[in-house]
Amino acid sequence: MAVKSVKDTMKKGVLFIVCGPSGVGKTTLAQHLLESCDRLTPSVSYTTRAPRKGEVDGVDYHFVDEDAFVEMRDRDQFAEWARVHGNFYGTPVAGILQAWKDDRDVLFDIDYQGASQLQERFPEDARSVLVIPPSIQVLEKRLRGRATDADAVIAQRLDAARHELAQFELYDYIIENDDFDVALQRLTAIYQACTQQMPLFRNRMMELLGE
Ligand code: 5GP
Repeated sequence: MAVKSVKDTMKKGVLFIVCGPSGVGKTTLAQHLLESCDRLTPSVSYTTRAPRKGEVDGVDYHFVDEDAFVEMRDRDQFAEWARVHGNFYGTPVAGILQAWKDDRDVLFDIDYQGASQLQERFPEDARSVLVIPPSIQVLEKRLRGRATDADAVIAQRLDAARHELAQFELYDYIIENDDFDVALQRLTAIYQACTQQMPLFRNRMMELLGE
């Protein structure tokens, strides 16, 4: 695939992955990080799930049917893909390459399966953060507070949350989201440190040394 050939010659940005169970606040944290970091651009995934109220095609997701998704997957157009809650989700390779061409870093809001695939595929460029709740009880309270879902749905989400949290060893960093401002400060500091990692500077160092 094109990634490999481009990878060795182009200047790359960090692939910054923020994961966490539903209700933990990762999406709000990610939005705040995006607003304050100019170099960071969001990855827009493809999904087969139906758009929710207010979601815009091409902004929140690229909404496609299953045939279109499978065709893209078979053409190796996804850097990672997974089935989550019965729907397909995938990260387009093209988005990553474009961001790198534009000299930007990329932010991913994906699940643990996607995080694991990206880290395997881009070991030097991908860094991941797991956002955790102060306790399962607090997470349950947040899920109950924000949704009008039936108890059975909440119980399902809690099960999914436990499963997502149980993959904690996949991640490079963990942030507890108890106080939002503190969590955001930590997330920003981690992102900034990730942008200064040695592998991202290989080409820059070659230039500097005139090689
Ligand atoms: P939602 O449908 O609520 O927007 O997202 C459901 C779950 O799918 C969330 O955990 C979200 O992070 C994850 N997700 C969104 N896009 C992708 C993707 O491209 N790949 C993977 N692996 N997960 C994704």
